[in-house]
Amino acid sequence: MPCTHRAMTLTLLTLVAFLAACPSDPPPTDDDDDDSTTPAPPERLLFAFPVAEPWLINLVVGVDHDPVETDDSGLGIDCTNYDGVGFPFCYDGHDGSDFILQGAFSQMDDGSAQVIAAAPGTVVSIEEDQYDRCHISGTAVTCDGHPIIGNHVIIEHADGVRTKYWHLMTDSVQVEVGETVECGDFLALIGSSGNSSMPHLHFEVDLGEEGPVIDPYAGPESQPESWWTEQDGPFDVPGSDCQ
Ligand SMILES: [Zn+2]
Repeated sequence: MPCTHRAMTLTLLTLVAFLAACPSDPPPTDDDDDDSTTPAPPERLLFAFPVAEPWLINLVVGVDHDPVETDDSGLGIDCTNYDGVGFPFCYDGHDGSDFILQGAFSQMDDGSAQVIAAAPGTVVSIEEDQYDRCHISGTAVTCDGHPIIGNHVIIEHADGVRTKYWHLMTDSVQVEVGETVECGDFLALIGSSGNSSMPHLHFEVDLGEEGPVIDPYAGPESQPESWWTEQDGPFDVPGSDCQ
């Protein structure tokens, strides 16, 4: 490929490679059980795609399904993306799926990329005061001198499962702690706060005591049954219909 194209590709890969898990990601568990397979919940809660239409999402980075923290080499981890292949840029300890916003900061400033609740529940934690234009600088994320802390919303569902929505825009959170939300409710706008190299949503499904953080996606290097309400094709971006 032309050098310029290759350079652009490498730049993108570098950016993607440094998309980072949130600082508050839960530590890996020491369970003796085999966490490499996702346990079936007693009652299956399904999730709607947590971004309102139009989706404006151009890349999805999957969860590191291997619960063992190994090293920083990026080797030996188990990730997938929505193209159905093992995703080479996922990294050890990344406990969520990243939905990367098309148009980056210009689209973010447009204010139209709404994060929505993936299922009904109760808001248990919010943060919206943090700087939201963090980006990559060299090989590291910088927040231009501001603390590297992400804005977020966390929702607890009836079965104790929590969904977590990270890197939100400053002052964009639409809900309060203790508030009950329905699936599809407007939570906040996609931003680039915290450990984030570009505007994107880091979406996490934490099974709590029932098991590890999972990727709702079903397919290669993920669980066999989807936790999305709509996963039409094996590698399609899910639909936003509620359960
Ligand atoms: Zn992430």
